[in-house]
Amino acid sequence: MPRDFLKRYNEKRNFGITAEPIGQAEKQTKTNLHFVIQLHEATRTHYDFRLEWHGVMKSWAVIKGPSFDPADKRLAVRTGDHPLDYNEFEGVIPDGQYGAGPVMIWDEGIWIPEDNPDKMEKKGHITFKIEGSRMKGQWHLVRMRTPDKRENWLLIKCKDDFALNKTKNADFLKRENTSIVTGRTMVDIRKAGTGKTTCHKKYPLKVS
Ligand code: MN
Repeated sequence: MPRDFLKRYNEKRNFGITAEPIGQAEKQTKTNLHFVIQLHEATRTHYDFRLEWHGVMKSWAVIKGPSFDPADKRLAVRTGDHPLDYNEFEGVIPDGQYGAGPVMIWDEGIWIPEDNPDKMEKKGHITFKIEGSRMKGQWHLVRMRTPDKRENWLLIKCKDDFALNKTKNADFLKRENTSIVTGRTMVDIRKAGTGKTTCHKKYPLKVS
């Protein structure tokens, strides 16, 4: 394990209660770097945007979700690293637990950094291509200089073939409101409750 990125992640959770995976950093994958976006109805609804790097998922909470309109910059608050296994988590975090509420896998796929991610992160400007089912094309994550104890970034769509104008972008998140893996809505996920359910495209639904 290179650095204990996931110490805080593990400290915040009681794995006897929540079905979320125990954090364990994995070896840096050399080829495809994964990304996931999880819609999370916690105290405040947000989209958790996670990019694989150094064997963990670097995370940002995008409050309003991604916008395909390049003029519409979305606040992305940096949050703690998550384990790679978290990409497969869809379900309900039980009441009283950190981040209690339903989580939906809204999109997943791979991301292609334009340059070395460490270098770009240090600079506060990460440019990347994303190949998901819903997320496409080139994007920027730009760190704001505002003094705040939180690290505030902006998620911005680049002007490319996948960009949408204000009108076309307006209903995108309302229209695309189901799990990309299971096809479930947030209501379905809530109903299924807090049981240990992991799911992935490659495998049939596993319930234990
Ligand atoms: Mn969250």
